[in-house]
Amino acid sequence: MTATVGVAAIGTVWYVASLTVGAGTEALSYVFVPVGGVLTTASVLHLLRGGELDPVARRFWGALLVAAAAITVGYGWLAVDMLAHAAQARTRSMPLPAAACVAIGFGVAIWAVARVPVVTAGGVEWWRMVLDRTIAFLGCATVLWYVGLSPMLSAREPWSRQAMALVGLAFLVAVGAATKVSYVAGGPVDRAAIRLVAASGGVTAGIVAVLAVWFGYAGGIAAQAVVMPLTPVLATLGVVAQCRADLGLRRHAARSGVLLPYLAMMAVDVPLLAVAAGAPLSWSVRVVLVAAVVVTTLVGARQFIAFRENARLLRNTRLQEERLQYEVSHDALTGLANRALFRDRLATALATTARASVLLVDLDDFKTVNDLLGHGVGDRLLVSVAQLLRAEVGDDGLPVRVAGDEFAVLLTGADADPEALAGRLLAALDRPISEHRLLVQASIGIAAAVPGATVDSVLRDADVAMYTAKQRGKASFVRYVDGMGEPVLAHMQLGGELRRALDDNEFRLVYQPILRLDDNRVIGVEALVRWHHPTRGVVSPAEFIPAAERTGLIVPLGRFVLRETCRQAAAWSSEFGPDALQEAGLNVSARQLHDPDFVSDVTAALADSGLPSERLVLEVTESAVLRGQQVSRTLCELDGMGIRLSLDDFGTGESSLSLLRAFPAAIVKLDKSFVDGIEIDDGQAAAADARQAVARAVIQLAHAFGLDTVAEGIENAGQTAVLRELGYTHGQGYHLARPMTAQGVSRLLARQQTMAAAER
Ligand code: C2E
Ligand code: MG
Ligand code: MG
Repeated sequence: MTATVGVAAIGTVWYVASLTVGAGTEALSYVFVPVGGVLTTASVLHLLRGGELDPVARRFWGALLVAAAAITVGYGWLAVDMLAHAAQARTRSMPLPAAACVAIGFGVAIWAVARVPVVTAGGVEWWRMVLDRTIAFLGCATVLWYVGLSPMLSAREPWSRQAMALVGLAFLVAVGAATKVSYVAGGPVDRAAIRLVAASGGVTAGIVAVLAVWFGYAGGIAAQAVVMPLTPVLATLGVVAQCRADLGLRRHAARSGVLLPYLAMMAVDVPLLAVAAGAPLSWSVRVVLVAAVVVTTLVGARQFIAFRENARLLRNTRLQEERLQYEVSHDALTGLANRALFRDRLATALATTARASVLLVDLDDFKTVNDLLGHGVGDRLLVSVAQLLRAEVGDDGLPVRVAGDEFAVLLTGADADPEALAGRLLAALDRPISEHRLLVQASIGIAAAVPGATVDSVLRDADVAMYTAKQRGKASFVRYVDGMGEPVLAHMQLGGELRRALDDNEFRLVYQPILRLDDNRVIGVEALVRWHHPTRGVVSPAEFIPAAERTGLIVPLGRFVLRETCRQAAAWSSEFGPDALQEAGLNVSARQLHDPDFVSDVTAALADSGLPSERLVLEVTESAVLRGQQVSRTLCELDGMGIRLSLDDFGTGESSLSLLRAFPAAIVKLDKSFVDGIEIDDGQAAAADARQAVARAVIQLAHAFGLDTVAEGIENAGQTAVLRELGYTHGQGYHLARPMTAQGVSRLLARQQTMAAAER
């Protein structure tokens, strides 16, 4: 690099010296270019030998090596020829073989540039590139023609054909490379390198032509000594650029050649202005005019392509925007409006008409469908519910999928009747839907906007109403009224607090003894959980178990109950002997039976406590047992382990003979509702008779299947008597013993032991 700059500098110094003090013959001016050329050739060779070049870049620089070498040889030849005939230097033209070498060099350079692959997306962009490059080429060519070649042709000291051909070729290298620069961004051949190759061809060719034309022979000498040695300098700079690009020192952002055709058009304007300024309308000027017309036509064509392209892009953007808008405001599964759009529309309705009512529709037990039949079936069910909603709502309102299994309808019409719609929806859900013919029910909460209502207040009211509908037994609708919120909100808060309570060990167990009815001996206990809330005191399970089931916290809570019961039962067994307490029972909810870890949890609790499995009783309700294959498998596994299973609250659910046959139960617990009032015998208590009938049927069934029985909720001696008479052997109830702490049970067992010892 430094060497080529040095040669160029010496050339300049020599030229200045020749002008002032006359430094030797003019033939010397021809020496600088080939010397610089040798240095450039060497630098390209160095690049090819050293760097890890990409194959495409290697091909490009390999061709440039040949080009540089050929040009150097050509100019070397010229220099030798000039020095040998120094006297005729002024009139001698370039020897043909030398000119041929240089021409081959330029030709190879053009070929090299042409083969650098361009980066276009194809199609329209390719056409635009072709147009751009044609326009640029014509624009530059016109300028060169006007300021260079045309004056050369008509100069007083006419130029040799060789010189003109070479200037033309150099110019081709320049324009070819320059118009390509914009399209090779990010490719293996560095953009800066190509740009410098363009400059080495173009700058020098242009200036040489101008100098020679305007200053004649003296200009030619200046060109040889001062300007042309810049060619090797620029070419070597190109090599440096490529080296640095390969080292990762330069990074080019892709920039399209948008300015190129406009620059070319402006370039054509230069000779046009000259023509306008009064240049004679010679044939060379006519060429300029024709070129100008062609260039402007091409620019017009290019603009047209760009215009069409822009229109297409705009259309695409608009479509994409519409699609995005749809996607962010609609639910992907059902195609219904989503929560965001729902809130938006509700806000608009409140702001404009202040009249709006909302139906919040929550499917009952949807989770069970998902758990038992899989998410695919669940999804199909949701789609069917969405279709049903759309059909029932029609044009009266906006059906929405709020989240999961929660839907909503926004009604804004003056004569909208939310209650009627809710009734229609529940009626429609009475029939099985989706291709799986599923029966699904929903709880609907209705809230209407009151003066001053906000989106949040309306939604909260609808939520409270829906929650109340669920608590009132599902498959129903409830309209929000003032004051409905507090208990519901308290209940919701409870759910949120459970997690913390679990972490803070706020749950305790109490144990309700189960007694033999004939001699009032304690034969077992049922563990019942209590929540010792820091501010609310002791909270009953009836309040928080549903919330725990809904949130899934029943699983860790149930695990605690299981471990604690086993531990306590084993402790009693070691304190009072293995026969003091035959069994320890605890309640298991359906959600726990679905937990795949449940069986291993039970196994671990038994193993850790040392409690024999036949002393453990798991109480499940009938509806929990009817929860499909997996639950049945779990129950059979537990039965296989020797654990006794008890059907809790028997008679209230879907008790059936087939259930008793299929389910590996060991005990049935007659529900308290059949015990209440069973003792009343005034001859007209039909209800008591009915209860007795159920109690009798249950005991007969139990005997038929060989099951033990426990009557729940015995509150007085009369009930005990009737139940004993009916054949019940065991009972549980406040009359016999209330739920008590573990110490209470210990005291009871101790007393029982002393009494037994006294009897003996
Ligand atoms: P359950 O399993 O049927 O339990 C019997 C319930 O009846 C207990 O209420 C008990 O205190 C109450 N009880 C017993 N004798 C009488 C009586 O003579 N009169 C009256 N009025 N009530 C009596 P508790 O403890 O409030 O439990 C209610 C329900 O909560 C339980 O019904 C059970 O389903 C559930 N539960 C309690 N502990 C747990 C638990 O650890 N896990 C699960 N999953 N559920 C539990
Ligand atoms: Mg129970
Ligand atoms: Mg019960």
